[in-house]
Amino acid sequence: MTEHAHTVGDTPNIKRGLFWFRHDQRLHDNVGLRLLAEEVDELTMVYIVDDNLFAATTFGLNRLSDKRLAFLCQSLEDLDTQLQRHHQSLFTFKGRPADIITALLQEENYTHLGINLFGGFDERAQLQQVKEACPNISVVEGEACTLFNEDDLPFEISEMQGVFSPFRRKVEKYSQVVPCEPALAHYPLLHKPTCCNQLRFENTSRVEMESNHTANKTAHIGGELVALSHLEYYLFEAKAAASYKETRNALDCWEDSTKLSPWLANGNLSPRAVMQEVKRFERDIVENESTYWIFFELLWREFFHWLQIKHGSQWFCFSGTQQITPNTTHDPEQFDAWCKGETGYPIVDACMKQLSETGYMSNRGRQLVASCFVHELRQDWRYGAAYFEHALLDYDVGSNWGNWQYLAGVGSDPRGHRQFNLQKQTHTYDPEGLFRRKWLG
Ligand code: FAD
Repeated sequence: MTEHAHTVGDTPNIKRGLFWFRHDQRLHDNVGLRLLAEEVDELTMVYIVDDNLFAATTFGLNRLSDKRLAFLCQSLEDLDTQLQRHHQSLFTFKGRPADIITALLQEENYTHLGINLFGGFDERAQLQQVKEACPNISVVEGEACTLFNEDDLPFEISEMQGVFSPFRRKVEKYSQVVPCEPALAHYPLLHKPTCCNQLRFENTSRVEMESNHTANKTAHIGGELVALSHLEYYLFEAKAAASYKETRNALDCWEDSTKLSPWLANGNLSPRAVMQEVKRFERDIVENESTYWIFFELLWREFFHWLQIKHGSQWFCFSGTQQITPNTTHDPEQFDAWCKGETGYPIVDACMKQLSETGYMSNRGRQLVASCFVHELRQDWRYGAAYFEHALLDYDVGSNWGNWQYLAGVGSDPRGHRQFNLQKQTHTYDPEGLFRRKWLG
């Protein structure tokens, strides 16, 4: 693995690059990595596990459940395994990301930093901090977390409207999904950092879990290889995209929606790769309203991604982007009961049990539990969002806080006050009680 490795203090004039993986834990369609690899002679690739994720936030929870952490470990392990085949390696550290990147850049004579831009408030602040601390480093920035590049959007982000439909109409008319790039065939030489007190994760019996996945295909396991294999399975084996629009609201079946969200959130899968394969499905199998609707839903992800940049820290404020103060409060007992699935509303409790046991909940389930939290229990929506951040394998800062604001009536919903009738919804989505029996026992 290290046969090509250079040590520190070697030839001057060598261009040495540090690539910082974040929500782009993959080799396919990794624009920032490709751009950096074109620039440098030597390369180090790192991932920093943010210490902050393990500390309790103001909402009393940490930001990384054991299940989320396991998914992340699987994903990083998969990335490292793939890189080893290219005589490269993934170096993983734990601490404050901007501080560690700054220390590495300064201590190891790097000339370049490579990164894919990401819209999250913390991620943007961290990159800014590094740029300010290391003004002499050339920063090579790619865009690979979204369908569109910022320059291709038909509006300035500062002018973006906070409602989905006008956004969708404009991007559908004027913007093109960026083509997906293949993984690199060759990498620059590995530079192994000397200050390398790397993290070693417990091997979370990945092999066993992977074979499980192949056997029953119903588990979220972190990593690019599993992500690509699930996409292939969903589209070309199950051919489930052909009926996505009719089934997507179901509460529990693996093929009823794409289940791509955890892989998209960690960046094991690029949204552009998803669209490339959906287009292939449309050419080879069928093109219908359902196949279009996968694109439509990805546009929601896109919408929240760009909108969060416009709103900065307002994204996390009680009064939301609309600056309306909700008439709700925080009651620790009610909050605890909701998290544990003990509210007394069976459909809500079943969904919350599903979340704590699997790290996943359907979109319909999320709408119901959030509506109950805000309207029936009259709780401060930010606590609900914080619990989702802790528990969801697919936690994404744009989609999570954007959807919560929407349901709390302080965000992008032009109608406001979106309260679901839980009895009616139960009758529609769980008429025979199968879902409730499964999760409530
Ligand atoms: P599919 O129905 O197959 O959709 C395909 C893809 O489109 C998804 O993987 C996702 O990337 C995107 N998408 C679908 N619906 C939405 C939506 N409403 N908003 C944004 N993107 C969407 N999604 C996350 O990825 N991360 C979150 O943290 C998150 N938090 C949410 C919180 C609440 C309160 C609600 C109501 C929704 C939240 N969603 C979040 C959106 C949505 O519920 C999930 O993306 C979806 O259920 C994931 O399952 P899937 O991949 O099978 O989705």
